[in-house]
Amino acid sequence: NIEKYIRSEQQKLNYLEVKTPELVSNELWIKSGHWDNFKENMFTSETDNKTFALKPMNCPCHIVLFNSQLITFKDLPLRYSEFGKCHRYEPSGALNGLFRVRGFTQDDAHIFCTGDQIYDVCNETALLIERVYKRFGFEKIKYNISTKPEKSIGTKENWDNAENQLKKVLSDNKKDFNILEGEGAFYGPKIEFTLEDSLGREWQCGTIQIDFNLPERLGAKYKDTNDKNQTPIMIHRAVVGSLERFIAIILENTNGWVPLFITPIQLAILPVSEKFIQYCSEINQQLKEAGIRTVVDGSDNKLGYKIRNSVSKKIPYTLVIGEKEIESKKLDLRSRKGENTSFDTIEDLKEFFQNN
Ligand code: ZN
Repeated sequence: NIEKYIRSEQQKLNYLEVKTPELVSNELWIKSGHWDNFKENMFTSETDNKTFALKPMNCPCHIVLFNSQLITFKDLPLRYSEFGKCHRYEPSGALNGLFRVRGFTQDDAHIFCTGDQIYDVCNETALLIERVYKRFGFEKIKYNISTKPEKSIGTKENWDNAENQLKKVLSDNKKDFNILEGEGAFYGPKIEFTLEDSLGREWQCGTIQIDFNLPERLGAKYKDTNDKNQTPIMIHRAVVGSLERFIAIILENTNGWVPLFITPIQLAILPVSEKFIQYCSEINQQLKEAGIRTVVDGSDNKLGYKIRNSVSKKIPYTLVIGEKEIESKKLDLRSRKGENTSFDTIEDLKEFFQNN
């Protein structure tokens, strides 16, 4: 459900969602430099006398995809997104629930653009990140910009341009931010987004990272207005980072009562007794067809037990069905806090779930 929501937001911004392989020949990792610098963290496999590795990140794969087509300036900015399954070796002592796992899903994207497009791309991305955090209930966001370190590649002019555009994005949106002097990666400056949860804990999730290195290194080219080959700038971007970790953060932030639009089961339909199960199943079917995530508790347990049971499973709403409800044709929705809302028709009930 998290993916579904982020996907819908990305579609509005003209992203192309892609799926690249999980198992990738080490020839690509050698070219990208990961084999030299990241090998200890990669799971490998020998097949047909060739070495493959489970991808620890998606970036090189997206450049291969970029290189497989003829790209002109008209195609830029080109936005590839992927809910990419990545694997990284972590020592067993470093593993920590969903916060730190060896296999995780990145809500990743790489945007290929020209130097002049950095501002617009980073601006739309910063707004996207803020919108997504708000939707998940995080209102407080901190911003850091990391600038040119001592050892870096790329010209000073390119660095200055990129850093200034990143600063302008945040100041134009009236955000306070910290500058972390010299803390950028060797290949480009970045903005980091840190959200604050309900207990005041901070979690660094989103990044917008400008890259002057990898496109050049892997030979990415586009045709400019004069039909000459140019190397694009690549912007790595993650909104929530690892989905697994983000789920852990949401669980911590909400004590398990995750927002209605992503909660696995939104409504438990509770028949007062066995003879109402059939009616409940019909309602259940209609709601499911409308995309609402429901269950029917057809057990022999008493109603009070069924209600407590659905609360303990963190199901936010219940609908009790008995003689009275069938006669009145009304649907009384009960929230976990004990508030009741009465709906005259099932259509109204569907609308309630679809709009929240
Ligand atoms: Zn990347």
